[in-house]
Amino acid sequence: MSDRNLDPCSTPTGLLSVSEARARIDALVQPISATEQVPLFDGLNRVLATSIKSRIDVPPYINSAMDGYAVQGDDLPTQGDTRLRVIGRAMAGQPFAGSVSRGQAVRIMTGAVMPDGADTVLMQEHVRRVDEDDIEIGGGHRPGENVRMAGEDIAAGDTVLNAGALLLPAEIGVLASLGVAEIEVRRRLRVAFFSTGDELRSLGEPLEAGQIYDSNRYTLQGMLARLHVETFDFGVVRDDREAIRTAFRKAANAADVVLTSGGVSVGEADFVKQTLDELGQVDFWKIAMKPGKPLAVGKIDGALFFGLPGNPVSVMATFYQFVQPALQKMMGIALQPPLTLQVPCMVDLKKQPGRLEYQRGILRQSPQGELRVTTTGGQGSHVLSSMIKSNCFIVLPAECAGVRQGELVQVQPFAGLV
Ligand code: AMP
Ligand code: MG
Repeated sequence: MSDRNLDPCSTPTGLLSVSEARARIDALVQPISATEQVPLFDGLNRVLATSIKSRIDVPPYINSAMDGYAVQGDDLPTQGDTRLRVIGRAMAGQPFAGSVSRGQAVRIMTGAVMPDGADTVLMQEHVRRVDEDDIEIGGGHRPGENVRMAGEDIAAGDTVLNAGALLLPAEIGVLASLGVAEIEVRRRLRVAFFSTGDELRSLGEPLEAGQIYDSNRYTLQGMLARLHVETFDFGVVRDDREAIRTAFRKAANAADVVLTSGGVSVGEADFVKQTLDELGQVDFWKIAMKPGKPLAVGKIDGALFFGLPGNPVSVMATFYQFVQPALQKMMGIALQPPLTLQVPCMVDLKKQPGRLEYQRGILRQSPQGELRVTTTGGQGSHVLSSMIKSNCFIVLPAECAGVRQGELVQVQPFAGLV
C-alpha cells in the first residue's frame, strides 16, 4: 500500500494532493547531463553515468572454497576409509604446478587455484592426517564439493551495474573485483539554501525578545549532506524585498537547486510571491498534507526552486516527500519507491479527514520479533523534538478519520529515507 494509491489526485478540500504534487515536481525535473571521470574510490556516494560490463570472470579461475585437500571425486569412498598420498601444496597466489591423479591429494588453502586433475576439496576438519605424506578420508562426501567455479560471481560480458546506480561500498567493491580503476559519474548536484525570517538568529548571537534560533538551515544542511550534494549556505535573509531578491539571484547563480524555508504561508505569500514572480516562474501550492501545507515550487534563472514552509517539522517532511526524490532524479539516480511497512498501531491516533498526514512514530519490535508502532505524542509542526523521538513516519491517508488501537497503519522507516 503506497500513499500514491491512497490519495486521490484532487481532494474534496480543493488542496493539491500529495501524489499530484509529486507528479508535477517530477515533470519539472530532468537529470543533469554533465559527467566526469574519477578514480574508483572517489566514486563512493556518486551516481554511475554509464553501465558497466565485466571484462573478466569473477572469480577468474576455479578455486578452493575451504582450507583442506584437493582430490579426485572418483576417490571418495562409498564405504570404509580411503588413504591418499599428499603430493604437494596449493596456496592462494601460489598454484600447485603438477596434477592430481587417482590416489593422490594436494594440500590446498581457500582461494588457491584448483590443481589439474582435482575436482573436489575435502575440509581439513574431515580428514585424518596419518603421517607426513598420507591422509585418510571417510564417507559422506560429494564429488565437486567446496569448489568455486570461474565466473560463479560474475561472468565476462555480464552487465554488472546500470547507469543510475548509486555507488555504495558494495558497488565500489564489486567494481574493484572487476579491475575497474576509473569510472564515469554524474557531476555532483549543487544545492543552495537559506532561511527567511526577521525573527531568526544565527548560532553565537544572543536571543532578544521575539527571536528564535534558525534551525531549518541546519536540518536542511544535514539532509543534503546525506545525499552527498555540493551545498552553498546563504545564511539567514531578512524579510526584506531587496535582501530576498539579492539572495535568490546569488543562490540561483551558484546552484542547480535553491531551497528556502519560511515566508510561503498565507500571511507572507504575497510578499515573497512578488519577489519570486519578478525572478522566475513559481507556483504557490497548498498541499493536502500535514505537516507541510504550503509549498512554493518553480524555476528561477534556470535553477529549480523549492520554498519550504517555515515550521521545522514541515521542512523535514516536505524535504523527504518532495525535495529528496527531485534531487535524486537530478542526480541521475534510478529511484526505487521507499519501503513502507504495515504494522499494528498500539494506540488510538487522532486525525481529521482531508489531508494526508505524516505523523511521527516509534517503531518497535516485541521480544517475539513482531513490529508495532506508537506515536511520539504532540504532532505540532513546530515540535522538532518529535523528529528525535521518532524513527518513522506513520502515513495516514487523506480520507482517514483516525486510527483505533490495534489497527494496521502504514509506516515509512526513517532508515529508508537515506
Ligand atoms: P513562516 O512560514 O515564515 O511564517 O514561518 C512559520 C513558523 O516557522 C514561524 O513560527 C517561524 O518562526 C518558524 N520558522 C521559520 N523559519 C525558521 C527557521 N529557519 N528555523 C526555525 N523556525 C523557523
Ligand atoms: Mg517567516
